[in-house]
Amino acid sequence: MARKIDPKCARCRREGEKLFLKGERCYTPKCAFTRRSYVPGQHGPTARRRQSEFGLQLQEKQKARHEYDILEGQFRLYFEKAQKSAGVTGEQLLQLLETRLDNVIYRMQLAKSRRLARQLVGHGHILVNGSRVSVPSFSVKVGDEISVLESMHDSAYFSEAKKGVQAKLVPQWLELTPASMSAKVIALPTTKDVELNVALPQIIEFYSR
Ligand code: SF4
Repeated sequence: MARKIDPKCARCRREGEKLFLKGERCYTPKCAFTRRSYVPGQHGPTARRRQSEFGLQLQEKQKARHEYDILEGQFRLYFEKAQKSAGVTGEQLLQLLETRLDNVIYRMQLAKSRRLARQLVGHGHILVNGSRVSVPSFSVKVGDEISVLESMHDSAYFSEAKKGVQAKLVPQWLELTPASMSAKVIALPTTKDVELNVALPQIIEFYSR
């Protein structure tokens, strides 16, 4: 499987904002963007160059891709699928990204980053409607129940994760039951439900060139 090799913190510094890719560390003074909010590279803290329209569109696309931790090819496929489906392309794209199983685990606060959520899914710790699903890109639907494998409930990781789960921090399209570390998809996410750091119209412009 193809993997990204560039350091996560360099991505934040390149995009000029925090993308929260490293879990706990992103909320501490150790965050590389807090300490060095300029672009990485040998020239140090030089001023950012004024960007062209294309540069801005590319930046928004890259931000979204990094935020959901998705490779370019896969992100493009999501865009093409969103474009073909009925409805507003930006909204459809958001739904495709948000309904990924790894993102749902992240939204349920069972993982501090999407990368970690992906590992939890990949290791077979997550169930959808009672069946084990180990594909992080699996797309959940309205009515699906997402839960943690029962035998993992008492593991050190999930015992700790459970303490941090708060229903009020979960987006409205998910109905969370903190005690059982499970959630039900009660609606499809919309742009109103998701606090998104990126400008979807710019991404659409980027791929529509
Ligand atoms: Fe980005 Fe997190 Fe690294 Fe800070 S610690 S630069 S938010 S990935």
